[in-house]
This record gives sequence, structure tokens and C-alpha cells, in this order.
Amino acid sequence: MNTVGRPTRPEAAPANDYIHPTLTGGRGLLQDEALIFELGGWDKTGVDLPTAERPADDLDGLLRAEPIGLPGLSEPEAVRHYVRLSQKNHAIDLALYPLGSCTMKHNPRLNEKMARLPGFADIHPLQPQSTVQGALELMDRLAHWLKTLTGMPAVAMTPKAGAHGELCGLLAIKAAHEANGQGHRKTVLCPTSAHGTNPATAAFVGYSVVEIAQTDDGRVDLADLEAKLGPDVAAIMVTNPNTCGLFERDILDISRLTHAAGAYFYCDGANFNAIVGRVRPGDLGVDAMHINLHKTFSTPHGGGGPGAGPVVLSAALAPFAPAPWVVHHADGFKLVEQEVEEASAAFGRLSAFHGQMGMYVRAYAYMRSHGADGLRQVAEDAVLNANYIKARLSDLMSPAFPEGPCMHEALFDDSWLEGTGVTTLDFAKAMIDEGFHPMTMYFPLVVHGAMLIEPTETESKQELDRFIHTLRLLAEAALAAKDGNGEGQQRFKGAPFHAPLRRLDETLAARKPKLRWKPEA
Ligand SMILES: *Cc1c(COP(=O)(O)O)cnc(C)c1O
Repeated sequence: MNTVGRPTRPEAAPANDYIHPTLTGGRGLLQDEALIFELGGWDKTGVDLPTAERPADDLDGLLRAEPIGLPGLSEPEAVRHYVRLSQKNHAIDLALYPLGSCTMKHNPRLNEKMARLPGFADIHPLQPQSTVQGALELMDRLAHWLKTLTGMPAVAMTPKAGAHGELCGLLAIKAAHEANGQGHRKTVLCPTSAHGTNPATAAFVGYSVVEIAQTDDGRVDLADLEAKLGPDVAAIMVTNPNTCGLFERDILDISRLTHAAGAYFYCDGANFNAIVGRVRPGDLGVDAMHINLHKTFSTPHGGGGPGAGPVVLSAALAPFAPAPWVVHHADGFKLVEQEVEEASAAFGRLSAFHGQMGMYVRAYAYMRSHGADGLRQVAEDAVLNANYIKARLSDLMSPAFPEGPCMHEALFDDSWLEGTGVTTLDFAKAMIDEGFHPMTMYFPLVVHGAMLIEPTETESKQELDRFIHTLRLLAEAALAAKDGNGEGQQRFKGAPFHAPLRRLDETLAARKPKLRWKPEA
């Protein structure tokens, strides 16, 4: 470490230092922050408006008599409120965000600049189509890139998230089966390692879900799949690369067996980042796959904005795609809005309008700034970074599948913590104290005490080394707690100690969330 110059880290506190709680709940330069409704009063606003003339009362008795109860803040108060809140959370702009399966990559500022162009940002979905030709052309070009990258002939652009895309794909599959006299098929097969949204979506659409077993090396068990495929199966839902961070080696056999049984192959494309530019899902026999633009194509997510989950479709499913979609005629771009003529087989509509324009612009800017060769390198670097982490941590922590390389995420189990009294949860919470967001914990369910680390390609070697250094120190501290060394466990058991909030009762927070605020009587 370079120690010349202005120190930027606190001196380590002497062992006998008295750490007192603050009088206000503030910490360092961070103040405690109340809810916005508890802050101001009705009497303040950030802007000066002339007092309104009371309009002619044509509302009879419906005119509001009481103040509306909006929080009243001046502009600086409003700015400080939101900046203070933002400081209480982690962000991709602060540090590596290793949340596996979520592909938390850097959001290039160029994308933000493009999305703010008035021709994209200030338009309205109900504007005449002749006035938004540029926006429609961008949607058309983005659709073209998505089809080209996946080797699929069609794409439904409207889904607003990965899970929404799953719904779109399964509704298209259901419509196709019904059109082909196969409406009796009532089962969807999902591997045990599937993301929770897969079985949830299948159940929501009215299918019953049957699990496919997994082999010891973390892949779909082909024999079990074959045994469970039958005349009742409508589709399989398989993630590739799968949620263990492994490529499904038998993917061609999986799609061949599925099609032979008359079922469709839905691929969960959340992990497309690992193969973009290298593998075309269309070549693997996929019939439908959602693409999380907010993962692979760097549009912000996780509190950073809405997502977008376009679904690419095979020729067999394309006619059932939901309206609207963009078509290019000699006289310009048009939206096909009505379920007639070319759209007469559409299963309906998935959302009121045509999707997340701002996300389309960001994703398209990302694609164009990388180019085809750059997107290929995205996949290569993402896989390289994950394997670097796996290789550098495997002497201390236990990789769930030690054999061979991983794809874009490194998966560890908790067998290395045996005898330490430290759990996956404790370890993850201690990471917060050291300045890192935890990795994905306890997912996939097939791995005991899973820790799923996805660095993405946007991390430099320096940032990866900083993260690895932190995890190695923590892992050594955890291993030192072996055989009932209670003192060694302390750092983990109560963690986080330095975050704005201490450890929460997550079950209570999930089961009984406090969603209402009432003024004190
Ligand atoms: C993120 C994710 C989803 C769901 O995507 P959302 O955009 O969050 O709805 C589905 N499957 C996998 C494997 C994922 O990682």
C-alpha cells in the first residue's frame, strides 16, 4: 500500500478505545434520516406559485376541504433527503456488486446521455406515429440486434422484466399448443436449480410443475428428463448457462428430446451475458428466451430503474407474439396494434404500450458502442473474471463444482465453514462491514449454503484483487473461528456492525412488511 501523502483511511482504533453510541443516531458524516412525511409541513414548497383563484365550484360537495397532506420541503431539504437516503445503500458506482445471477455491471454514462435526448425522453406513447419515427426505428434496430445475437426470427419487445418475459413466453407456448390441438398439455418441467420465477410463472399460467433432477456435476439429468417428458408436457424451462454457473453440456440433446415429445423449449436467458456473441440460442433449439436488458445490456436495475425483458421466439411461436410490434413499410415505421390480419394469432397484449423506451435506448447504445466483436469480448471477459475469482479463492473456500472452469459466476458451498460456527449468512453480512455488497446467498437451492459470485466483465483486475483480498481476509478470520473459538465468531455473528442498519429480521420483514405510515395521533 502506498502510504505517502494525505491519509484516506482511519487509523485503527486502539484496543481499549471507547466507542460510544452517538447522541443523534448519526454516524460519521451520515445523519439519521426520517421519512419524508415526518420532515416538513404542508406550508413549504420548492417553488413559488401565485395563490390560485378559487375556481368556480362545479364539483358540488366533492371539493377537498382539508389539506392534501403532501410533505412540504424546500428544494435544499428535498435534495438532502434523497442524497442522505442514497448514502445508506450500496450502488454499482461504489464498488463491485457481486450479486450472482443478477449481472450487476457498470452502466455506461454514454447510455444515460442518449436516453436523455428529448426525442427519446420527452415523447408520449399516444403521440401520432408519424411524429415518433426515430423512436420506432430504434426499437426496430434493437429488435434486429436481439434477433441476430440469438439467431431467432422474432422478438416480443413489450415484457418489462425477466419474469414478465417468462410469462410472455409461456403464454405464447400455451397459445401455440391450443392452436395445434394440444391444449391438453398441462405440465412444465423445471430443473431443481431453476430460478424461483420459472416455476412461479408456470404455475401462474395454470401449468403444474414437475422437477427435473440434477447430476452430480451440476447439469440437467438427461435420463430423468427423458423419463418425465410425455404427452402431457407443454414445455421445459431450462436456464443456460445454468444457475450453478455451468454450461448445459447436453443442451442439444435436451432440445432434441423436448421437441420429439411435442413440447417447447423455454430458455431462461438471464445468464446470456456469459455467451453473448459466442453462442446463438437459436442454434441450440430454443423456442423462446427472455433477455434481461438490465443484465446483459447494462441498463440500470436493482432500484436503479425499470427493467426490460424482450423475448425472442422461434418460427413456431412467432405468430403468437403479443401486440404491439414495429413493422417497416415503404412509408416508414408503424406499430401493429390490433389483433387482426398479420397479428390475428397474437395471444393478446402484455402491457398497455410498447415497453420501456429508456431501456431500449440504453441497451441499443451499449450494443452500438461495443459492436459485434466487443459484445463477444463481454462474454469472454465475464467468464475470465469469474474464473479468476474461483481460482484465487478455492484454496480457502470450497467451490461447489471444483471440476473444470465455470462460466460467468463462481459458486461456492459452505462445507469450508464446517466447525467454525459461521454460516453463509454471517459471512455475507460481514462483507458489508468491509465495504462490499454480499454475493447471492442460498441460491441455487441445490447447493448447501450457496454463495454465488458474479463479477461481470466491467471489473478491472485491480477491482477484482481488492474484492479477493477482502474475501481472503474474511475467510481466514472465519477459519480461525474453528472449534468453538467464540471470540473469532464475534465479527460474523453480529454483523453488520458498521452499516446504517444492523442485522434485520429478514423473515419478519418479508412476511410482515410495514407498508403504511400513519401520522402520530
Ligand atoms: C434475474 C433472473 C430472472 C428474473 O428476471 P427479472 O428481470 O428480475 O424479473 C429469472 N431467472 C434468472 C436465472 C435470473 O437471474
